[in-house]
Amino acid sequence: SANPSAASPPQPSAAAESLNPYGLRVSSAQGVVESLTGAIGSTPLIKLQKLSDETSCSVLGKAEFQNPGGSVKDRAALYVVKDAEERGLLKPGGTVVEGTAGNTGIGLAHVCRSRGYKLVIYMPDTQSQGKVDLLRLLGAEVYPVPAVAWENSDNYNWQAKRHAERVAKEDEAGAVWTNQFDNVANRRAHVETTGPEIWAQTKGKVDAFTCATGTGGTLAGVTRYLKDVSGGKVRCYLADPPGSVLHSYVTSGGKLKERTGGSITEGIGQGRVTDNLAQEVGELDGAVHISDEKSIEMVYRCLDEEGLYLGASSALNVVAAKEVAERLGPGHTVVTMLCDGAYRYADRLFSGKWLESKGLRGAIPKKLQKYIVL
Ligand code: PMP
Repeated sequence: SANPSAASPPQPSAAAESLNPYGLRVSSAQGVVESLTGAIGSTPLIKLQKLSDETSCSVLGKAEFQNPGGSVKDRAALYVVKDAEERGLLKPGGTVVEGTAGNTGIGLAHVCRSRGYKLVIYMPDTQSQGKVDLLRLLGAEVYPVPAVAWENSDNYNWQAKRHAERVAKEDEAGAVWTNQFDNVANRRAHVETTGPEIWAQTKGKVDAFTCATGTGGTLAGVTRYLKDVSGGKVRCYLADPPGSVLHSYVTSGGKLKERTGGSITEGIGQGRVTDNLAQEVGELDGAVHISDEKSIEMVYRCLDEEGLYLGASSALNVVAAKEVAERLGPGHTVVTMLCDGAYRYADRLFSGKWLESKGLRGAIPKKLQKYIVL
């Protein structure tokens, strides 16, 4: 008699596109990936329901917190390491050196462990012990150094550069300073992955893209791809926090002002036009400036309305997407980046004491104050 379990299995091609009754994607499209780095990218594009309703637009966020290292920077980390390999700078057991206090270091730590490289991180000694501990437990050698300006040769970036030069001379396995700000392999990660994913996921129905910049890799790379593939039709906007000079640079047609002030949005805000940004900054359709009050409120709103637990840069991006949707009017699709989760920042973002110290407690609407639990 026929064994029901031996009935012909579902055809992979049929399974590739299907959603189960709960709306979950059951896909065989990706198959087995060769290593951890194969799990980088291909993140979902999430419709933010409440903001989409409010604006009569589709406001979509790219779920970068789903990357193995928990942030958008995994993409750039993989690309700067692959670039060094392709240029013959790294052999098995070689050393990667970077100056970073945050997500790039975590991304590099995963990529370096997975690919068999040593990782050395220089960071300003003003960073939290938690960040140092995390990088060390991910296998990195960490040097917190005095926090001095970029122009000073003892700045953590230049110390990283010199460290890589020393090791490269002594160790035949090689060493590289990955130089995330000015190494355009960073931007290429987004030209080749993030941009095409957004285009494919929206089936080309995307009217605008906006995101903030740290190195500028994400904004420039996605802008490059979407402008090219759409013949310039997709409108691209910089989103900028207080203390960054890029908003005024874009809106003034290229005047660089002195950097003053700061923001609670870690990982973004920039004092110069990096090499990653240089080619695309002139192609932007505009810029939006977002206050810390609006960003922190959106951290709480996304949690309450969508169940999304986001870091402050993601929340700033969501505010920017909402403002771009309002500028464009009903019926448009606006995409932004959900760069990372709130996990690494919870002791600040959800602490009443910290909010008060930043003068931001009043920015949280009464009905959302129940989330201030730390
Ligand atoms: N958000 C967070 C949390 C980040 O760590 C970074 C990178 N510093 C960014 C946004 C900005 O990304 P990019 O470097 O590609 O401009």
